[in-house]
Amino acid sequence: MNKLVVFEQATQQVVPESLSPSQLTVWNDCEQRWKFSYVDKLSPRRGRVVAFEKGSYIHEMMHYYYQLVREFGLGSPIIMVSIQERFKQDLANYIMACNDHDIPVDMNFYRDISKAVIDYINLQSPLIDKGMTEILVEHHLEYVYDGRLFHGFADLIYKKEGKWHIRDHKSGVKNTYETKMVERVEQLLFYGTIFYKLTGEVAIPEISFIHSAPPTSPKPGTVIFGLFEAAHTKASYETYWNHLVRIHEKQKSSQVERNYSACKYCAYYPICRADLRGYSAENIIKYRFNGQIQNSDSASSDSGKTGFTLNLGGHRYHY
Ligand code: SF4
Repeated sequence: MNKLVVFEQATQQVVPESLSPSQLTVWNDCEQRWKFSYVDKLSPRRGRVVAFEKGSYIHEMMHYYYQLVREFGLGSPIIMVSIQERFKQDLANYIMACNDHDIPVDMNFYRDISKAVIDYINLQSPLIDKGMTEILVEHHLEYVYDGRLFHGFADLIYKKEGKWHIRDHKSGVKNTYETKMVERVEQLLFYGTIFYKLTGEVAIPEISFIHSAPPTSPKPGTVIFGLFEAAHTKASYETYWNHLVRIHEKQKSSQVERNYSACKYCAYYPICRADLRGYSAENIIKYRFNGQIQNSDSASSDSGKTGFTLNLGGHRYHY
């Protein structure tokens, strides 16, 4: 028999037009989850909508504050008047939204956040922001490679003493950041890398931490504010860029892997299990998700088999 040679072409999948740090977080947790979410665009149907969330509101106020700094200059009295006005207006809207959705108004929420933001403006910002120039707020960093947009919104980019900084605002009741940890924050590495690819400049990535419910008499060791910098170099950004290109290539190849250690709180668990066992996930998707599976690595999952039973949180589901 003559030697038989087979050239098999790996399946190429249509990847999302862009790649962002939030996509990478999902990818790092589980590649299959990334596929469900970003390729198949399956979104779980959720019942309840939460009106407000502390972290995102502090974030929003930080953006507003630095837009004012950019416009009027650090320490301008107009800034505090505008911030107070904004709080009053948002509180009125919040009360109205709570009444509309029949949700109790949480006044502690506003008391905590307004204290955190006003203390930040009075105490922390003058210390860390003095000398800041060329301020860019919520700046969209965009770099196109192989037809794909690598992008993200950096909270704050500025120049100080001739060096560029890329800052991310974080808040919470416990600080978990320190310099070593900041070096591992992928979102910052991503922004720094895209900034480097765009400008050739090596920016200093940093996290500005704000305690979201600052206690009146803090216990020793409680961090109310903090600024933590990473020490990335040209080499770190070039290495990370090569890593991003490898991820991009792998995503195109459709060779996604499943990370079973991340299954515990995965919203896609029922679909994933059905797919693995060769059952059709169609019915699960129909009742619990928006979207549909584009392709699957399980050979028998399109067999149309039904009758799949799944134990979830003490309940048995039949599909
Ligand atoms: S159930 Fe587990 S393996 Fe499947 S997508 Fe979710 S995390 Fe990944």
